[in-house]
Amino acid sequence: MKWQGVIEKFRPHLPLGSDVKAVTLLEGDTPLLPAPRLAQAVGLSGDLYLKVEGANPTGSFKDRGMTVAISQAAAEGSRAIICASTGNTSASAAAYAAQAGMEAYVLIPKGKIALGKLSQALLHGARIVAIEGNFDQALEMVSAIAQQHALTIVNSINPYRLHGQKTAAFEICDTLGRAPDYHFLPVGNAGNITAYWMGYCLYHEAGITSGTPRMMGFQASGAAPLVQGRPVRNPETLATAIRIGNPASWNGAEAARDESGGMIGCVTDEEILAAQRLLATSEGVFAEPASAAAVAGLQKVCGTDQIPVPSVIVCTLTGHGLKDPSAITDVCPEPVSAPANIDAVRKVLKL
Ligand SMILES: *Cc1c(COP(=O)(O)O)cnc(C)c1O
Repeated sequence: MKWQGVIEKFRPHLPLGSDVKAVTLLEGDTPLLPAPRLAQAVGLSGDLYLKVEGANPTGSFKDRGMTVAISQAAAEGSRAIICASTGNTSASAAAYAAQAGMEAYVLIPKGKIALGKLSQALLHGARIVAIEGNFDQALEMVSAIAQQHALTIVNSINPYRLHGQKTAAFEICDTLGRAPDYHFLPVGNAGNITAYWMGYCLYHEAGITSGTPRMMGFQASGAAPLVQGRPVRNPETLATAIRIGNPASWNGAEAARDESGGMIGCVTDEEILAAQRLLATSEGVFAEPASAAAVAGLQKVCGTDQIPVPSVIVCTLTGHGLKDPSAITDVCPEPVSAPANIDAVRKVLKL
């Protein structure tokens, strides 16, 4: 049957009434890409797969949650949605709101959102305000404003978001025919690690899979509240999607870590950029810096030899690299230019 998006595929596992019409951009069904060259490069002997969530319609996993949250909001008669965002939530919310014919209000931290994401929110017609503060402050304000004006919040504190996002775990199990042994992913506001764990547990309890993976979450070291065990007042990292100091799903992330026997660690911005490049050169996959935090985490764990063989390892690449081109152009030298003649070009290419 042709793909109809995550709601039609997984409706029995979602808390939506049968009369709730799907607002969908046909999100989900993303590639689970075998990554043997990356595995070798990080010294891993198990089977490594990349869940390429940048292949979603707006370029990040946020679409899985947004289709469910906005479909429910539309069914309830909501005319407008609101969110705080480090970028991808606003891009996704604006796109799905456009499709639902709803107004979208977006609060972003000024100067700290990647250009690709901002341009999406702008073009889809969201009303955007760039606040002189960080994501955590934006989210607090969104909660207050939503109450006063009867707007539907579509941040991951909206439970429908997490139910949508858990479908990525279903897809992974369906494709592998089992649950992985380890699941690596970046952690910001901690909704996604909570959602994946919910999905893996649901399949296990339903008898569809016989086990659950260890959940391996990674934060940026300048924004690692879950590692430090307390909120970070001024989170800093070039991986803007995870530049969050007080995650809304704090308890969910700790439960996922502890119940699964996993861990939440952190990686530096240098490690993130190196991992982004390694992923791009070894497997041909371009992911944004926040996504590369999971790869950097994998690299770190493999360096200390904690993963037994044989193991099946999945790493979620949360967003597309094109979201944040300046993360590359800021650090890579400009291409050398040459006159338009073959000899000059050969010389530059050292042919
Ligand atoms: C939102 C986002 C994250 C963080 O996910 P949380 O659910 O907030 O932990 C990571 N990477 C990308 C690309 C994102 O858009």
